[in-house]
Amino acid sequence: MKEVGAVIFDWNGTLTSMDAERELSYKAVVEIFNHYNVPAPSAEAYFSNVTSDYMNAFYWPHGIPQTATRGDLNKIRTAYILSKWDPASILKPNAKDMVRVLYDRPNTVLGIVSGEHAPLLEKGLNDSDLWQYFQYIKSDAVSKVKWLADALEKIGVTARQAIYLDDSIEGIKSARSLDMWAVGISDGFANENDLIAAGADVVMPLSSVWTLVRNVKNLHF
Ligand SMILES: [Mg+2]
Repeated sequence: MKEVGAVIFDWNGTLTSMDAERELSYKAVVEIFNHYNVPAPSAEAYFSNVTSDYMNAFYWPHGIPQTATRGDLNKIRTAYILSKWDPASILKPNAKDMVRVLYDRPNTVLGIVSGEHAPLLEKGLNDSDLWQYFQYIKSDAVSKVKWLADALEKIGVTARQAIYLDDSIEGIKSARSLDMWAVGISDGFANENDLIAAGADVVMPLSSVWTLVRNVKNLHF
């Protein structure tokens, strides 16, 4: 048996509350399409197609001009989200306790690999007072495979000693392609069956991860 050496989290929809996230995310998408005078796709089209490589996966195929860059869209999205920002509703109920308990485990390093734009991830971590618990933080992760591999190298653990928690199909596939343990978070963007099909070792809501973390003394594989 091997002890867990690293627990790496996605941010949006994994640690953050979908109640706040879902509506605000989609409104920011509409804001972007309005800016370019392009009709916005439905919320369903957005949530089922978006990945961290969102220009190729979503915006360009839906009519946003090829001349628009990731930076251009991030500027619009960031301004919109910050104008509606509510620090009290950012995290899921058990997220902070869970992170703190994991942080206190000996020999367990915590990290974040997220497609979220840096100013928003930084504000989220600051407002929720979580910044200090993560030794490795990567925002704007266009390729999750690349940055998860980088996280493993920087933290100094093998893939089999590391868990990645993510609510997206892309995140689960990325972790599994590196042979990391993949926990699909079911109260996020993707549905449970899709997370299982993507190869998740286990699928559960974040509150169940908290129950495990709180009750199981030693995390071993
Ligand atoms: Mg996510």
